[in-house]
Amino acid sequence: MKSGRAFVQSKKFKLGILILFLVFAFTIITLEILMRRCPLKEIDWPSCYDLRAKYAQQEFLPDPLPPMPLQELINNHIIIVPREEIAGSNGIACTKYGYIANDLPYSASKFVATHEAIHLQGEVNETITNIKAGLRQPMGLIQTTIYSLFYSFRSQSVSEYPCVFGKLWQNFRTYFLNLPYEQPITLDTMESPS
Ligand SMILES: [Zn+2]
Repeated sequence: MKSGRAFVQSKKFKLGILILFLVFAFTIITLEILMRRCPLKEIDWPSCYDLRAKYAQQEFLPDPLPPMPLQELINNHIIIVPREEIAGSNGIACTKYGYIANDLPYSASKFVATHEAIHLQGEVNETITNIKAGLRQPMGLIQTTIYSLFYSFRSQSVSEYPCVFGKLWQNFRTYFLNLPYEQPITLDTMESPS
């Protein structure tokens, strides 16, 4: 029987690593191309003013909110609303109140509420917000990720799957890798001589 060291130095092992690397590189390049070539759906974000008028208490609140413990923000400043009211997103933060979708499963709901409450504390970076919320609600982070995957593919035809993957990759970059949101480039810009 070969020792571990002999195996690591074997041709088979090196070939395996090379194949793994090529598959990884091919996947990333494909996702980057899909992300840029797929048409970005114009998101019709609701106005924070309208959301507050419809769902939140109307008492005066200082702008910006005074520093507040996270749990207090979650208890008093996070409001559950129908998903269609927040443009189909899981949640949005509006300086004084955060709004989260009413169809999120239990743990995901707690995670998204924490995520939006961290935004209300003044954190604007999505990746940092996600890490902070994920440390508090690890199960919720996993559930939100799985639910978002399920939700993205729901009611999409197979021909639309490539663009769904492109969109998911875009979100992954924003929420986990702290990379800037790339605007898709049209065929015109791709093919015009520079
Ligand atoms: Zn966010």
